Amino acid sequence: MIELQGITKSFSSLQVLKGIDLTIDKGEVVSIVGPSGAGKTTLLQIMGTLDKPDTGRILLNGTEINRLKERELAAFRNREIGFVFQFHQLLPEFTALENVTIPALIQGVSSGEARRRAVEMLEFMGLSERASHKPAELSGGEKQRVAVARALINHPSVVLADEPSGSLDTHNKEELHRLFFELRDKLGQTFVIVTHDEGLASQTDRTIHMLDGRIL
Ligand code: ATP
Repeated sequence: MIELQGITKSFSSLQVLKGIDLTIDKGEVVSIVGPSGAGKTTLLQIMGTLDKPDTGRILLNGTEINRLKERELAAFRNREIGFVFQFHQLLPEFTALENVTIPALIQGVSSGEARRRAVEMLEFMGLSERASHKPAELSGGEKQRVAVARALINHPSVVLADEPSGSLDTHNKEELHRLFFELRDKLGQTFVIVTHDEGLASQTDRTIHMLDGRIL
């Protein structure tokens, strides 16, 4: 469960978030839509503890994250939150399998267990035969699925996705969307998806409309 209370954020004189109150339940798939510059990415970054609000409280599964020290916060983030970005940001020198294991290794999971989990994840994503390929040897859709596998390796309770299908063609877009709902049904994760894709937004449990730093 994600709870945001009275979140504000400014970049110098520009107030980008003007008092956001929002509760998202466990297992909800929520989309955030709105025009460019509305503050969607900034809100997602704050939700994901990658950026700090100027004012307001954030509770993730009951933990008030503003109170955590930097090291506790990093461990919390790595354990509880998975990120999927438009540009997959895989490490080019590592194979698909190695890329997926990285968050688990950071979490202190043994290399054998990390590998076992990564193999399972890639299988779930239909990528077993691509496990030893490097990102340059994968298609756009495959890279994005590897990025999703990496985001999920630590079984985070919350997955935050920023324009996850922005760089994909229609077929791969539909596949990725189907995967999100399948994962939610299987693992009960919460998904928050920033998107310009009306098709995806209309399929989610709830759509949050943002305009000029506020939720409508
Ligand atoms: P888009 O749909 O185009 O991605 P968005 O709704 O996600 O837009 P944000 O990326 O949250 O919008 O940006 C909101 C506003 O804050 C924009 O005017 C942007 O230029 C500004 N902004 C975002 N990050 C920074 C930053 N680090 N420093 C200064 N200004 C920023």
